[in-house]
Amino acid sequence: MKACVFYGPGDVRVESVTEPQPGPGELLLRMEATGLCQSDIRVYKGEKKAKIGVIPGHENVGVIAELGEGVEGLAKGQRVALCPIIACGRCFYCLRGLRNRCLKRTTLGYDENGGLAELLLVPASIVSLGHVFPVPEGLPSDVATLTEPLACVLNSLEACRLPPGGSLLLLGAGPMGLLHLMLARALGAATVIVSEVNQGRLQQAKLFGASLTLDPARDDIQSAVLEASDGLGVDAVVVTTGVPALVEPALAAVRRQGTVNLFGGFPPNSTVALDPNVVHYSEINITGSQNATPDQYRRALQLLTVIPQAAQVNTHRFPIEEGTKAYESRLGMDGLKSLVIF
Ligand SMILES: [Zn+2]
Ligand SMILES: [Zn+2]
Repeated sequence: MKACVFYGPGDVRVESVTEPQPGPGELLLRMEATGLCQSDIRVYKGEKKAKIGVIPGHENVGVIAELGEGVEGLAKGQRVALCPIIACGRCFYCLRGLRNRCLKRTTLGYDENGGLAELLLVPASIVSLGHVFPVPEGLPSDVATLTEPLACVLNSLEACRLPPGGSLLLLGAGPMGLLHLMLARALGAATVIVSEVNQGRLQQAKLFGASLTLDPARDDIQSAVLEASDGLGVDAVVVTTGVPALVEPALAAVRRQGTVNLFGGFPPNSTVALDPNVVHYSEINITGSQNATPDQYRRALQLLTVIPQAAQVNTHRFPIEEGTKAYESRLGMDGLKSLVIF
């Protein structure tokens, strides 16, 4: 079968590899669509680790082609999306339902083979943990690949404790920023302000329902946000992109007792200067979010059915033979997400 193989930073090759066979407890998926995200690009750039020789791809949707011995509750022909997290199920965090924080966590596409291949062998641990979710009928497979990114966004918004009718500032309107915008709106955010340097993306934020769009090269973010929020600041700010310099304007735009969530991964060894008195006197909650719990995956897949406009973040499609182009297209700022479609 054809697959993308990761040989090291800047080196992903399309190759013919041996077709996997499902052993006891495993599943074999015939892939329908696999999304690439910023974290795949960070691996490609050498900013994030992955195993040499692994097949990348953690935003996976496929049809069950074969069931290994002993798999129950799933059937051949079923279309499924995956939570790519392999968790131990018994550590401190797993017992709290936080499998994304598992002390022994590994992930499909980084440590184990992922879905940039015609067939994906789903490990028995993923099957037994219940990380295989049937895709609702009528939800296209390319849209269902957004389950993973949307689950991460749901985790982010829940970390923000954004109330219905609340206000949100998004710093960055890449695919994840735009998914934050759509989901926050669907969950009842009354005001969503978006700041972004890329004019095309800013325009898209407008189309997807941003209350106010700001260009940090032209606008004073703090004064624009204060003006739009009766001088209070917003309930929450999400730094959707890993730019350390955005932490300071985030703290300047959040209201007292508001939340700043650091969503995007930052380059290794980043530091930021902050005035601890701003956090202290305004009782600001600074938090982070990374990946999502299985329950957030389950709900994200259902939420995709109520935000059909999410489909528009998938802008570039490639066959597996051109898998490397899916990476290259993401190195530029043209378009939003890239997919491999089978
Ligand atoms: Zn992803
Ligand atoms: Zn664990």
